[in-house]
Amino acid sequence: MSDITVWILGDQLLREHPALVAAEAQTSRAQIRVVLVESEQRKQKLPYQRKKLVLLISAMRHYAGELRAAGYTVDYRRADSILDGLRQHVAAFHPARVLTMAAAEYRGRTFQQTKLAKLLDRPVTVLPNTQFLCGRFDPYPAPGKKVILENFYRAMRKHWRLLIDERGEPVGGAWNFDRENRKSLPRRGLAIPPPLRFEPDAITQTVMAEVATLKQGVGDVAGFELAVTRREAEIAFDDFLRHRLHNFGPYEDAMSQHSAVLFHSLLSPYMNIGLLEPLAMARRAEQAYRDGLAPLASVEGFIRQIVGWREYIYWQYWQQMPDLLHANGWRHTRAMPQLFWDGDTDMNCLKHVVTRVIEAGYSHHIERLMVICNFCMLAGVDPAAVNAWFLSFYSDAYEWVVTPNVIGMGLNADGGRTATKPYIASANYINKMSDYCTGCRFDPKLRSGENACPYNFLYWNFLLQHEETLRANPRFGPAVLGLSHLAPGERSEIQQQAARFLDDLPTYQSD
Ligand code: FAD
Ligand code: SF4
Repeated sequence: MSDITVWILGDQLLREHPALVAAEAQTSRAQIRVVLVESEQRKQKLPYQRKKLVLLISAMRHYAGELRAAGYTVDYRRADSILDGLRQHVAAFHPARVLTMAAAEYRGRTFQQTKLAKLLDRPVTVLPNTQFLCGRFDPYPAPGKKVILENFYRAMRKHWRLLIDERGEPVGGAWNFDRENRKSLPRRGLAIPPPLRFEPDAITQTVMAEVATLKQGVGDVAGFELAVTRREAEIAFDDFLRHRLHNFGPYEDAMSQHSAVLFHSLLSPYMNIGLLEPLAMARRAEQAYRDGLAPLASVEGFIRQIVGWREYIYWQYWQQMPDLLHANGWRHTRAMPQLFWDGDTDMNCLKHVVTRVIEAGYSHHIERLMVICNFCMLAGVDPAAVNAWFLSFYSDAYEWVVTPNVIGMGLNADGGRTATKPYIASANYINKMSDYCTGCRFDPKLRSGENACPYNFLYWNFLLQHEETLRANPRFGPAVLGLSHLAPGERSEIQQQAARFLDDLPTYQSD
């Protein structure tokens, strides 16, 4: 009889899993059995991005192999549901107790904490989640401090001593180099080193064949080239540090039809399943600055993303769940447009971004925020529908990260708790930060008329519709002043054009 079962979830493929560490402190390795469950129902809960499923399943199978090679006994189960898999495991091995780490997501953690022991009829210990830094140090509530990213981020930097000098001050004399980080790409002369590709091995090829036969899904398994082991993920991270971190900061917000990744890291799929860990990454990025591999503005920008934004988003998720799932502060009810399923639109920016997401499960942050969410917000799409779309289509999508980013940040539907202003913009922003408008049938400079960019009339229509609310927001109020430049005739023209455009927009009908 095995004494202790350690249940490791598919997105917890950590180098040092706390449940394994705790089990080994209590008994010998021979008395420990590790269980991983691949759930058929979970794979089909939504029509998921097929490349994400390949990544997750192949990484789980590789991880099980690594544990075996390290001398652990592993029970890798394929079952209808997670619970079925765990019940089969318990029936086969009768462990005295089960150790596990708290899930990153609400429903999974609630299930572990409130139901699992009863369902398995034995003691279950749920250890704190160590995948996130704010689980180990809570930067809030700091008395008198406003709950905004900047305060959160500074507290994180100080606590973990990241880019902090010997006097306790931020290295370089500033916490933030955002002003240096808003460049668009030059037309020529800047080489963009492509991210590394990893050839699928035999395990991954088997998974690809299995995923290809699933009834529903987004995109194709062909062309899968992500890392599936910690070793490979570390190689991908090294490659980013050497070749793209240098320009990460200045071009963080730039968009291009010629490159999806630009100087971004493409590391979120690995971080979100535990193959890469945020503190170690932040320390290595800091070292890259000290070694002269990258300038401070880029390194600070990257550290801000992983110990600032990523942690803040996770923190917001846990502050706001479960209500966040249904938040709809702007009372938007439109169904998701069909174009998000096939990229079939004349709007060049949306066409490119959606097509890439369908093919690769990736677009970078600004495209998620200022192309997709901006459009959905201006078009009045129901936040829950946008949330479901993001969960389905991206390779790095998990509820703890999608829901606060989409419902909170992108759609400002949580009453401004995640972001203090709605991220909406006219075509001017996309035109400034990208080369999309050059190849587009619409004119980014026109507000109304046949060739006017839809982002423009939808933006002005939104301001007209919500003038009072927006004026009251200190961070957005000044933009509303622009309404005074609209002649009364143009106001009604914009409103009519927006209404016609939205009425004619085909909506997605599921089979
Ligand atoms: P980089 O630009 O290289 O950034 C480095 C890392 O910082 C990322 O890998 C990620 O781990 C972290 N990061 C930066 N911003 C955020 C953020 N706002 N929230 C969480 N992590 C952040 N991220 C996901 O991991 N999964 C998602 O499903 C997801 N959906 C998003 C939806 C919307 C509407 C928005 C606005 C953002 C979303 N993000 C999501 C955050 C961010 O866009 C992605 O983490 C990032 O684009 C991943 O690409 P990268 O690894 O090249 O990131
Ligand atoms: Fe997008 Fe408008 Fe520019 Fe076309 S003109 S690429 S729709 S922002």
